[in-house]
Amino acid sequence: MSGLSGKLVIATHNAGKLKEIQALLAPFGIECLSAGALGLPEPAETGTTFAENALIKARAAAESSGLPALADDSGLCVTALGGRPGVYTADWAERQWFEGPVGRDWYMAMGKVEGLLCEQGPDVDRSCWFACVLALAWPDGNSAVYEGRANGTLTWPPRGALGFGYDPVFVPTGGALTFAEIDPAEKHRISHRADAFAKLVAEQFGR
Ligand code: IMP
Repeated sequence: MSGLSGKLVIATHNAGKLKEIQALLAPFGIECLSAGALGLPEPAETGTTFAENALIKARAAAESSGLPALADDSGLCVTALGGRPGVYTADWAERQWFEGPVGRDWYMAMGKVEGLLCEQGPDVDRSCWFACVLALAWPDGNSAVYEGRANGTLTWPPRGALGFGYDPVFVPTGGALTFAEIDPAEKHRISHRADAFAKLVAEQFGR
């Protein structure tokens, strides 16, 4: 396994994700460079699992930059919907107009999930989980994958103004507030992303 030190390309064009990952890796002396700032192309996410998509993004960035690269892929999985929307979580928020997508509408996406649950009756299983897969890829072809998970239940109507995406309907197991109602620092401590990062840090930095 190739080790992780020095420069690391973060295979995202999302400034928020870059900032969060930079902060998480700062204590380990890793210099994070963003794929966006390096002008690297964004590959199509054609995988059918979180791991496949994370690896596609990490491998593309490692190959085109000649540096190790880190990518993540995440989404909401609903037990009663057989794990959907899963890797298509962001797509379910895509509003379509004649010529194609015209932007993301998270309220619509949350409503779609709720509508499908309601079709199954009042006693439907409302359990779900957020999944996050982090993939590391090196220019020599080596790679490593770390899977994180946050279990919870879906509530309706949405509550809270913090966070993003499906946070207003996600109540983590053992809690009463949604991810959009709790302090972001607390969310980052218990989230699926934190779980995956803890595994990466344990293996790559022995902590
Ligand atoms: P991607 O990993 O950038 O492909 O995003 C997947 C989608 O999953 C995001 O656009 C969000 O809607 C959703 N998602 C992932 N993590 C979270 C989270 O922590 N809270 C709310 N939604 C999330």
